[in-house]
Amino acid sequence: MKTSWHYVVTGGAGFIGSHLVERLIGEGCRVTVIDDFSTGTIENLRSVAGHPALRVLPTKVSDCRELASIVAEATGVYHLAAAVGVELVIRSPIQTILTNLRETECVLEAAGQGAVPTLVASTSEVYGKSNKDQFSEEDDLLIGPPRLARWSYACSKLMDEFLAMAYVRERQLPVTVVRLFNTVGPRQTGRYGMVLPRFIAAAKAGRPLTVYGDGRQTRCFCYVQDTVDALTRLRRTPSAHGQVFNVGSDSEIAIRDLAALVVRQLASNSPLEFLPYEQAYAPGFEDMLRRRPDIEKCAALTGFRASTSLERIIEWTAASM
Ligand code: UDP
Repeated sequence: MKTSWHYVVTGGAGFIGSHLVERLIGEGCRVTVIDDFSTGTIENLRSVAGHPALRVLPTKVSDCRELASIVAEATGVYHLAAAVGVELVIRSPIQTILTNLRETECVLEAAGQGAVPTLVASTSEVYGKSNKDQFSEEDDLLIGPPRLARWSYACSKLMDEFLAMAYVRERQLPVTVVRLFNTVGPRQTGRYGMVLPRFIAAAKAGRPLTVYGDGRQTRCFCYVQDTVDALTRLRRTPSAHGQVFNVGSDSEIAIRDLAALVVRQLASNSPLEFLPYEQAYAPGFEDMLRRRPDIEKCAALTGFRASTSLERIIEWTAASM
């Protein structure tokens, strides 16, 4: 018997997960966080620490013995636990592949037993080397060869998507898959390679901002609170089940322009320096030159549009550091 709304958030101590947990608790829900603290931290949950509606289980999903019973009595599951960051993926490909496959398998199996609505977080990395102007959910996907560790992340998340869709078809599990594009904001750490916290930290400290390649590659940055808004809207939309959605901003900026904007906005004296990809990552590293989502599918169904400007994002992220 479900007494009140109760959500399970795997990876709830991570960057996006912790913002989602705050939002759910703010909405009056109970939340169980399952997080092994490999990249997430308890500090990320500081604002809700000790809240009676929050329970934190410090374990891997795959090691959580009560998983089936917790999920069985939940209103829904947000599965965000995953290996994160391009640098971590390149450094530890075995861990990346196994984490992404195993944890998702466990979540879907547990949710499948009680048809518990589940949202699986995937990534824009699955679009791989596509050179389209913008990426749509129905696009064919172009992943690089297995000798390049970078693509193992995309491939493992893509397998998660296939598995989710298999549970939809074979077990009628109400699953929604979201492909998260570059998400930024307070609590994101630059430790695993993410560009914006690195640029902001360098600019604040007066150190050079290191731009990889020639910096002409572009990305679209979405504020984490906007991302959380999209996730909660999709949760409230049963017709989203069985479908894949891009979630992000479609406002595009070149990385070297981002670096210049951070320096200008924070009134920093930091210079920009350029580092070849082989030195930044690994020999043969392939970056995506553009990565812009077609966001119309999610907008049409939920009304979601990312609304926070890059200037505000930089301001608020810098203030939180
Ligand atoms: N990047 C950079 N300097 C850094 C970290 C990243 O120039 O210190 C570049 C990176 O090569 C990529 C972009 O910034 O083109 C975004 O990198 P991030 O790791 O944040 O996300 P990605 O889009 O690669 O998943």
